[in-house]
Amino acid sequence: MAEFSLPKTYDFKPVETRLYQWWEERGYFRPAGEGSPFVISMPPPNVTERLHIGHALTFAVEDLMIRHSRMHGVPTLWVPGVDHASIATELQVEKELLAKEGISRRELGREAFLERAWRWKERYGGIIREQLRRLGASCDWERERFTLDEGLSKAVIEAFVRLHENGLIYRGDYLINWSPGLQTAVSDLEVEYREEQATLYYFKYRIEGSEAHIPVATTRPETILGDTAVAVHPEDERYRAFIGATALVPILDRPIPVIADEYVDREFGSGALKVTPGHDPADYQIGLRHNLPVINTMNKDATMSEAAGPYAGLDRYACREQLWADMQAAGLTIKSEPYLQQVPRSQRGGEIVEPMISTQWFVRMQSLAEPALAAVRDGRIRVVPERFAKVYFNWLENIRDWCISRQLWWGHRIPAWHCGNCGEITVARETPPGCSHCGSIEIEQDPDVLDTWFSSALWPFSTLGWPDDTEDMRTYYPTALMETSYDILFFWVARMIMMGLEFTGEVPFRTVYLHGLVRDGQGRKMSKTLGNVIDPLEIMDEYGTDALRFTLLTGSGPGNDMSLSMERVAANRNFANKLWNAGRLILGAVEAAPAKPEGHPSRTHADVWILGRLNQVIREVDRLFASYQYGEAGRQIYEFFWGDFADWYLELSKIQSEGGGDRAWLTARVLVHVYHNCLRMLHPYMPFVTEELYATLKSACEAHPARYGPKRGWEQALIVANWAEAGPEEPWEKEGVEAFRLVQELVTAIRNARAEKGVATGKKIAAGIRAGARAEFLQANQAAIAWLARLDGGKLRIASDLDAPPSSVRLVVGPVEAFLPLAGMFDLEQERLRIAKELDGTRMETARLERLLAGEFAQRAPGDVVAKERAKLEGVRQTAEKLAEQLRALED
Ligand SMILES: [Zn+2]
Repeated sequence: MAEFSLPKTYDFKPVETRLYQWWEERGYFRPAGEGSPFVISMPPPNVTERLHIGHALTFAVEDLMIRHSRMHGVPTLWVPGVDHASIATELQVEKELLAKEGISRRELGREAFLERAWRWKERYGGIIREQLRRLGASCDWERERFTLDEGLSKAVIEAFVRLHENGLIYRGDYLINWSPGLQTAVSDLEVEYREEQATLYYFKYRIEGSEAHIPVATTRPETILGDTAVAVHPEDERYRAFIGATALVPILDRPIPVIADEYVDREFGSGALKVTPGHDPADYQIGLRHNLPVINTMNKDATMSEAAGPYAGLDRYACREQLWADMQAAGLTIKSEPYLQQVPRSQRGGEIVEPMISTQWFVRMQSLAEPALAAVRDGRIRVVPERFAKVYFNWLENIRDWCISRQLWWGHRIPAWHCGNCGEITVARETPPGCSHCGSIEIEQDPDVLDTWFSSALWPFSTLGWPDDTEDMRTYYPTALMETSYDILFFWVARMIMMGLEFTGEVPFRTVYLHGLVRDGQGRKMSKTLGNVIDPLEIMDEYGTDALRFTLLTGSGPGNDMSLSMERVAANRNFANKLWNAGRLILGAVEAAPAKPEGHPSRTHADVWILGRLNQVIREVDRLFASYQYGEAGRQIYEFFWGDFADWYLELSKIQSEGGGDRAWLTARVLVHVYHNCLRMLHPYMPFVTEELYATLKSACEAHPARYGPKRGWEQALIVANWAEAGPEEPWEKEGVEAFRLVQELVTAIRNARAEKGVATGKKIAAGIRAGARAEFLQANQAAIAWLARLDGGKLRIASDLDAPPSSVRLVVGPVEAFLPLAGMFDLEQERLRIAKELDGTRMETARLERLLAGEFAQRAPGDVVAKERAKLEGVRQTAEKLAEQLRALED
C-alpha cells in the first residue's frame, strides 16, 4: 500500500526539473484541441539578460493565463522568443572587447565585430531560456524565435520597404538626442531627465551700431556659438524697441536678428532668449517658425566643429570654460548663479545627451497613430486596467515622428543603398544590382541599423510567419492578449498596435494587460545602488519556484506595483508544504477506506459545508479570473485551502473515518473531491507541487477498489486537466455553509476561552451547551465539537435548556450559550496554590516599592526615574488586585 505514499517532506528541486522535462517531452506546451485559440506572444527578453524579478513577474502572470486557458480545453499557444537588443548587446560586446583585447569596435571593423556579437549571443543567449524553464514557463519552444533570425529579418525588411513605398519613411535633418559616448542617436524615450545642480550664465548680447545690449541667460554657454537669433516676447516693454535690430554673437561678432516670439518666458532668466536651432529642441521649433538658419557647432564626439570658429576641436565642456573666460575678458558677461536644472542623460550610457542636428531615418507617425487610437476607442482593444487607456490616447494624440536609425552595427541594417554617382537612394528588399535612379553600380548600403523597437513592433505577427501566408498566421493571429509591464506601453505596446493595423489590417491582440513593477519589501524600487535587488534565481533555489510564483501572483494586481517580501515567500513555501502534508493525510484516508459502502451513507453537516464552500470558492475564483484579478483569486484559494479545508475539514475527517465503514468511505470521497479541485485551481499558480500531488493522488485512487475520482475520470496530467467546476448553485450549498458556521463559531469561542485561561492544549475539559432551537443540530455534531474543541465527550452536554454549572466560564455564541466549568480546566487546588504564590510575590514587590518611594530616593533621584518607579508600583498593585480576584473566584 505504501506504494502511493508521499515522502515526508516536499523536496522541490528534483520534482521541478523532472516535471518540466516530462511536460515538454509529452508535448503539452503545443496548442491542442478545437475551437478559437488563446495566444500570447511572450515579450522577448533581451538576449543579454539574466532573469530578473521583473521578468519573473511577467512570465509568471503569462504562464498563469496560459495554464488557466489550457485547462479549459482551449487550444493555447504561448510564443517564446528573444530580442537582439541592439544597443544593450553592442555595449556588452564592446565592453568585453575592450577589456579582453584592448580594442574598440571601430578598430575591429564591422564584419569582425558582428562575428563576435553572434558568438557572444551563442554563448550567453541560452541563459535566459534555461531560466524561463526554471520558472515553469509552459511556452511552445518549438516555435521559439529570435528577432535577428532569418524569418524575422525578412519581416523587418518587408515592413521597412512597405512603409517606404507608402511614403511613411523619410530621411531628414532632425534635431535628435545624440549620445556622444555611444556615437548614436537615442530616442526620446531613452532619455532620462534628472534634476541636477547647474549654473545659469548671464551675458550681454550687444546691439549692432549702438551701446545698448540685451541681457540673456543660458546654462550651456558653448551653444552661443550656434545662435541664430535673440528672441523676446512681443509684449515685453523692456525689449520691444530692439525687435528687428541686429545683435552680435559674442566673440564671433556674427550678426543675427532680434525676433519676437510668444514662446519666450518673460519670467525666466533675463526674459530674453538666445535661439540655437541646431542644439535645442524648443529653439529648433522657433527656428522653423522664423525660418532661421541652423548651425551645427558640434562634432559627433561632442568636440566643437569648424562652425565654432576659434573653439573648433575643443571638447564641449572645455569650450564652455574657454568661451566664458574670453567673454569675461571682453566685458560681455554679467553674472553666473547656481541653478537646478533637468539634465537629459542617456538611459543606457548615463552621459549627458546633446540635442544635435543630424540626418536620420524617420517613420511618419500621424497616419499610423490614428487607426491605433480608434482601435482602443471603439473597444477592439481593451486596456486593463482602464486608466492606462488615457495615457495611451494622450501619447498617440501628441505623437512625434519616430527616429528609427541607430549608428550601431548589431541589428537590422537599413535596406537602403546610397548612390555614389547621382546621390539618390534605392530602397529594396534585396541588394540591388545598381542604383534604381541612374543605374550606377557605385552603390553602398546605409551603415545604420534600425532601432530595436522596430523589430519588436512586428513581434505578434512576425513570430507567426508574416509576411508569408502561413498556417500559424491564419490560425493564431490576431493573438488574444498582450501582457507586459506598464512602463513599456509606448516603447512597445502602442507601436505593435500601429504596425499590426498597418500590415495585417487587424489589431495584433484584443486585450492589453499591464502589470506593475516589483519593489522591495519596503516598497522601494529595486536598484543596484540601493543594494536591494532581489534575484529570482536565488529565491527559487532556496524556497522553490512555486513559492516565488505564488508570492508574485498574489502580491500584485493589474497595473499596480507590488512589494516583494521574503517573509511572504517563506510563508508560501510553507503553503506548498501544507498542500503536501494534506496530500499525505488524504492518501492515508483513501488507503484505509473500504472498497464500497454497505448502505447509502448520507453527508454529515461538515461534508455539506465543505462541499458548499468549495463550490462558492470555485465560482468566486472564476468571477475574479474573468476580471483579471488573479491576486485576489489566489488569496481566496489559499484561504479556503488552509482556513477551511486543512484547519477544519481535514481535522474532522479524522473522527469521521475513525470507525471505518460507510462514513469512512464517504469521507475519503469528499476529501479527494475537494483536494483535486483545489489542485486544479492552484495549478496555474504553483504548477510543480500541484502536478506532483495530482499524479500521486490519481495513482492511489485508481489503484483503490473504490476508485475515487472526478466524474469524467482522472486526466493524464494536471497541466492538461479540466479546470475546477462548480455547476450552478443549488439551495443546499448556502444553507449548509451557514448552518455549519455555528459549529465553527462555538468551537472557536471555546478554543479562545481555553487559551485565555491557560488550559493545557491536550487537556480535555467538560462543557455544557444551552442550545435552544439549535439543540438537535448541535447534538448531531456533538462528536465534531468535542473533537475540535478538545472537550471530554463524556462530559459534553448539549440540550435546548440546561442550568449553568457553578463557577464556570459563560460564552455567548449567537443563539447559543456554552458553559465551561472551571473545575474541569485545571486542578483547582494546584491552581489556587499557584495564584496564591504569585500573589505573595506581588505583595512583596509592592511593599518594596512603597518603601523605596517613601525614602530618600524619592527626593534625590531624577524626576523621570522616580516617575518610572511610581508607574511600576501602580502596575504591581493592579496585578495583585486581579490575582486576588481570581483567587476569590476559585474559592466560591
Ligand atoms: Zn544613381
